[in-house]
Amino acid sequence: MKREQLEVDVLFVGAGPACLSAAFYLSRLVSRHDREVEAGTRPGPPLGEQLLLVVEKGKEIGSHALSGAIVDPRAFRALLQDLPGAEPPLDVPVRKEDVLFLTKRRHFRLPVIPPPLHNEGNHVASLGKLVKWLAGLCQDHEVEVYPEFPAVKLLLEGNRVVGARMGDRGLDANGQPRSHFEPGTDVLAKITVLGEGPRGTLTRQAEEQLGLDRDGGPQLYSLGVKEVWRVPGIEPGRVCHTLGYPTGTREFGGGFIYTLTQEQVHVGFVVGLDSRDPREDAHRLLQEYKQHPFVRRLLEGGRVVSYGAKAIPEGGYHCMPRAYADGLLLVGDSAGFLNPARLKGIHLAIESGMMAAEAAFEALVARDYSAARLKRYADLFEASEARKELHSARNFRQSFQRGFWTGVLYNGLQTLTGLGWGGVWKTVPGHERMERMSDSAAAGALTEPADGELTFDKLSDVYLSDTAHEEDQPSHLKISDLELCRDRCREEYGNPCQHFCPAGVYEMVQDGDRPRLQVNFTNCVHCKTCDILDPYQVILWTPPEGGGGPDYKNM
Ligand code: SF4
Repeated sequence: MKREQLEVDVLFVGAGPACLSAAFYLSRLVSRHDREVEAGTRPGPPLGEQLLLVVEKGKEIGSHALSGAIVDPRAFRALLQDLPGAEPPLDVPVRKEDVLFLTKRRHFRLPVIPPPLHNEGNHVASLGKLVKWLAGLCQDHEVEVYPEFPAVKLLLEGNRVVGARMGDRGLDANGQPRSHFEPGTDVLAKITVLGEGPRGTLTRQAEEQLGLDRDGGPQLYSLGVKEVWRVPGIEPGRVCHTLGYPTGTREFGGGFIYTLTQEQVHVGFVVGLDSRDPREDAHRLLQEYKQHPFVRRLLEGGRVVSYGAKAIPEGGYHCMPRAYADGLLLVGDSAGFLNPARLKGIHLAIESGMMAAEAAFEALVARDYSAARLKRYADLFEASEARKELHSARNFRQSFQRGFWTGVLYNGLQTLTGLGWGGVWKTVPGHERMERMSDSAAAGALTEPADGELTFDKLSDVYLSDTAHEEDQPSHLKISDLELCRDRCREEYGNPCQHFCPAGVYEMVQDGDRPRLQVNFTNCVHCKTCDILDPYQVILWTPPEGGGGPDYKNM
């Protein structure tokens, strides 16, 4: 099969805030360099036109973008410093904030908001809108941005990354070419920047093949599920974070309610993907959460308009991989740039993009794309505000692996004293903590029927995510041992994929006299939970044909 090749200078994989900021900032650095060379204020030849390309698997830019989201605008100030008048769409400033502890029927307002959760000066925003805006900025500055271009394979020459292969188009369900078959292009680049979000396909290949080790053990994840409601008369700029009900103190988790303009309420629940309960189900927890009197009251008179889910990398400072190699940089969630104590990562993603852009720029000037040159990225990080922030919250999530109250105590003391203790706390990957059904004391309640007004079943919610995949294509969820699912996993864990998948993709069905795992891959909202949490690690999430997946609007 002959594949087309496309040569670019820098390839950015994933149109999230990290890659888009990196591409935009790099294009500014290149043009400033050439202007200064021309004016004689900088030595050396000009770089000339650099081909910078951002590829994105979603149908449109923003289709796969989902976050809470409260944004610390400090990164935008730095990113846009020489572009006066550029105003990112930060929806509304935070005007009122509360942290609440919920019991089943009551709520208690914390008298003092823990400092990491202070949001004065921050904005409630939609990540979808932000990335669309950033993509426009990129295009205005000669960066190419291609949606429906899923990168499926890292291209290597020895240990040097030389680009990425894009996915094929037009394969049928058996993997055979259909009449409109097109092999995916090989995009060859001097530097490849991966900003694929959590548990990225190429990032995983890079970690496995290049050994981008972490000090503190594997990345820790949570899953966030979220609905957008339209509620007349709601006051914009209100932020509530809650602890307690429905997870209580048995799991790491909590809820959030943010109000935006245009009568929007974003209501969501986040739960650790290291629960001991094999029946943990973030979608069910969100439905229970909305039934709490405090939350129910806020949603009264409204209607749900959108739904989505996404994994969140929460291991923090100690779980960040080495983020550079020959020809390679990792940015944003792919490199663990998220502060779990502040529940924020967008500003850190942008800052990581800017630092990666500086390192890539210097490499382009020196015509040296080696790891030794690109290590500049790590040096910039070491001296940065981002490092200071992440280091101050090191062990945040790790401490909760030792129990809810240990986490509360550790982080309370850390906040009060400004110190962190215990060096590097090693993480245990979520799937290794899951208990077998026979040992599981934490029996999550099974789903109650949804009422269709306040609570919804998974399929009704998936409908609101506008998820679609071409049906006649190979499933992008690769399960290496279906017999293990049918026999051992059913017996030992009760097929937890049926519970943890927030889109109802996995179903045990009766096939004659035997059960069988049915995979409804067209429902997949690309949250990556199955790849992370499957107890036997037999599920591999891979990118489907370009454009498949959710089509989030303003999530
Ligand atoms: Fe998430 Fe996997 Fe379900 Fe897709 S199949 S929605 S990635 S858990």
